Amino acid sequence: MPTALSTTPQIDLRAADEQLSGPPPFESWGRYPTYGAKIIPLHWQSDFPAVTAGLHNGALPVGMGRSYGDVCLLKDGNLLLTTGMDRLIDFDPETGLLTAEGGVTLAQILDFAVPRGFFLPVSPGTKYVTLGGAIANDIHGKNHHTAGTFGRHITQFELVRSDGSRKLCSPTENPDLYAATIGGLGLTGLITWATLRLKPIVSRKIDYEGIQFHGIDEFLDLTNQSKDVEYTVSWVDVTSTGRNFARGVFMQGDHSNRRDTLGSSAKPKLVFPFDAPAFALNHLSVSLFNTAFFHKQIHKRVVSLQDYEPFFYPLDKVLRWNRMYGKRGLLQFQYVIPWQHAKEGTIAILHEVAKSGLASFLAVLKVFGDVPSPGMMSFPKPGITLALDFPIKPDQTFPLFARLADMTLEFGGRLYPAKDAAMTASQFQSFYPQWEQFARYRDPMLTSSFWERVTGDKPSL
Ligand SMILES: Cc1cc2nc3c(=O)[nH]c(=O)nc-3n(C[C@H](O)[C@H](O)[C@H](O)COP(=O)(O)OP(=O)(O)OC[C@H]3O[C@@H](n4cnc5c(N)ncnc54)[C@H](O)[C@@H]3O)c2cc1C
Repeated sequence: MPTALSTTPQIDLRAADEQLSGPPPFESWGRYPTYGAKIIPLHWQSDFPAVTAGLHNGALPVGMGRSYGDVCLLKDGNLLLTTGMDRLIDFDPETGLLTAEGGVTLAQILDFAVPRGFFLPVSPGTKYVTLGGAIANDIHGKNHHTAGTFGRHITQFELVRSDGSRKLCSPTENPDLYAATIGGLGLTGLITWATLRLKPIVSRKIDYEGIQFHGIDEFLDLTNQSKDVEYTVSWVDVTSTGRNFARGVFMQGDHSNRRDTLGSSAKPKLVFPFDAPAFALNHLSVSLFNTAFFHKQIHKRVVSLQDYEPFFYPLDKVLRWNRMYGKRGLLQFQYVIPWQHAKEGTIAILHEVAKSGLASFLAVLKVFGDVPSPGMMSFPKPGITLALDFPIKPDQTFPLFARLADMTLEFGGRLYPAKDAAMTASQFQSFYPQWEQFARYRDPMLTSSFWERVTGDKPSL
């Protein structure tokens, strides 16, 4: 029997900023590029397409703007802000199936689900993303090798198109639109609601183990030994060379079986208060941080029982931490290189980064498993993935990204659109040769600055 649903209000960062300094523009997490756009808040599932009648320059549904680049931006266009569509609709504790509107955040879902003994089937490194955004980028988490992508756990959703049609999409109903919309970058229509299969847990704790490693071989050995552990991810020091090249900490965990309180999470109180000056994150400060982080784990192997919040969302502790990169913002570079060239490609790219003298503060290394993604344009495929954050230094960061993207292509890999603001049209079209087939499913009114940049396609309405 479905239970009655209650929901906690989400943290409205835009409202908080507005109180401080007037209406903020809609920014992506990297704060680059920045574009003017009209923001149209949606509150009801029937709002689209009515609110866009007579508008020009296309439209794009957006969530929390936690994508790093321009997949959630539309220069001089209309952004359909979905965070007001934030209702939980139905939950069946027998099956774990939760139905919610597209603007509900994963934080809201956790607040509802954890006290009832359920957890997200897949989670990214922040819980401040919407259900619609998670589907549209077909996000992945630390359990990709066991669970695949987020889209695999979506049993159905409703897609509203600009012609007013409403389509129920599932693996058996409108399967083409289902596949095009999962990882479809918000271009196939508005996801008004979706049904997600949650997983049962008995504790909010994680049995955690952190293990230091030196080099990619040791990282791969640890990965092989941990095939049955549900969550694995590594931090890698990209500033070190020589003996310390590619040293890091391999972090793994499983939901604890020890029955425990399931209670709610405390709300974060820390907000990064200002835009840091451009010099704050430089090679020296980042390598000092990296050395401290590596040695923070004094022993080669550390075992502990920890709450799921610091395990999954260490960065969410400080809201708006992207301000640490200053007003120029940051770029993220995330590739996946298939097994055939995964090791040599990763070593070559790490050398190229070390040689550049640019420091990446957050460098996350992981292996993707072979569970197939349901989306036509989904990013993950079996191999090694590495995500690197860099402060924007226009003369250095863009040339480095161009070299790294070319190397990714040479090694048969591809880049993640959710994290991108720099790949060229020809790189994108080589990474995703299926893009023309996908374009047939695009809603003619919907477009994004990313899509226009990598295809030259403009909205036709
Ligand atoms: C700190 C941090 C850690 C992260 N870690 C990971 C990670 O581990 N794995 C991972 O895969 N990603 C990760 N990400 C990226 C993030 O999960 C994705 O970019 C996610 O899609 C952002 O969701 P959002 O609600 O902010 O959507 P937005 O960024 O606002 O939009 C993302 C896309 O979804 C579309 N969209 C949004 N709502 C709808 C809707 N209702 N209907 C149709 N389309 C819609 C938009 O058009 C856009 O194309 C991370 C981001 C941050 C900031």
